Amino acid sequence: MKPLAILGGTFDPVHIGHLCVAWEASELLDAEVHLLPASVPPHRPPPIASAEQRVAMLRAALAGQHRLQLDLRELERAGPSYSVDTLEALRAEHGDRPLVLLMGADAFAGLLTWHRWQRLFELAHLGVFARPGFEAAWPAELDEAVQGRRATLDDDWRHHPAGRVLPLDVTPLEVSATRIRSLLAQGRSPRYLLPERLVDTPGLLDAYRAGQE
Ligand code: ATP
Repeated sequence: MKPLAILGGTFDPVHIGHLCVAWEASELLDAEVHLLPASVPPHRPPPIASAEQRVAMLRAALAGQHRLQLDLRELERAGPSYSVDTLEALRAEHGDRPLVLLMGADAFAGLLTWHRWQRLFELAHLGVFARPGFEAAWPAELDEAVQGRRATLDDDWRHHPAGRVLPLDVTPLEVSATRIRSLLAQGRSPRYLLPERLVDTPGLLDAYRAGQE
C-alpha cells in the first residue's frame, strides 16, 4: 500500500508553494497526498477567510487532478486543530500503513511548541522540505529528538509506519499566503502566485480585498 502523506495548513489562501510541495512530495515518496485545512490553528492568529471560503479556494485549486485530495476532518472537528489528534485518527483508520506528516522547515523549527509533539514521531514519519526565505535554526532539544531518526528516501522507511525524519528536496518557491493577502489588500493581483482558477472565479479572493470583511 502506498504511504499516505498529509500537508496541514491554514491555506489562507492556498498557493503554488503549497501545491508544488504536495505534488512533488507525492512523487518523491510515491505516496497519496491529502491537504488538511486547519479549523482553529493552535500556533497562529485565526485565518482571514472563513472555513467555507478556504475550502472553496482549495476545491478550485485541486480541480482537474486526482493526485492531491482534500481532507476536511480538521474543519469538522470542534476545537483546535492539533496534528497529533488528526494523526491518531488516521493511524486508527490505516493500521500499519506508513503515514508522513509533511511540513516546511519553518513549521518544523517550531515543533517543540506543538501539542504532544513527541507523540508525532510514534504516529508518522516527518517529511521536511526547505522553506525559501526561512533560515533553519533549530533548538538543541529538537536536534536531539531527531538524532537517530534521520533517514533518506532510499532507506527502509516504507517498511515502518512511523518514526523517521525524511528530507524532501522540492523546488524552492518563495511564495507565502501572507504576501498574497498583502497584495490583495493593496488592490493588486496575485495572478501566477496561485492557480488561475482562484483569480478568475468571481468572489473567491474577496475576503482579502481592501474594504471586505
Ligand atoms: P502564512 O503566510 O499565512 O503564514 P503560509 O504561506 O506559510 O501562510 P500555511 O498554510 O501556513 O501557508 O502553510 C502550511 C504548510 O505549507 C507549512 O508546513 C508551510 O511550511 C508550508 N508551505 C507554505 N508555503 C510554502 C512554500 N512556498 N514552500 C514550502 N513550503 C511551504
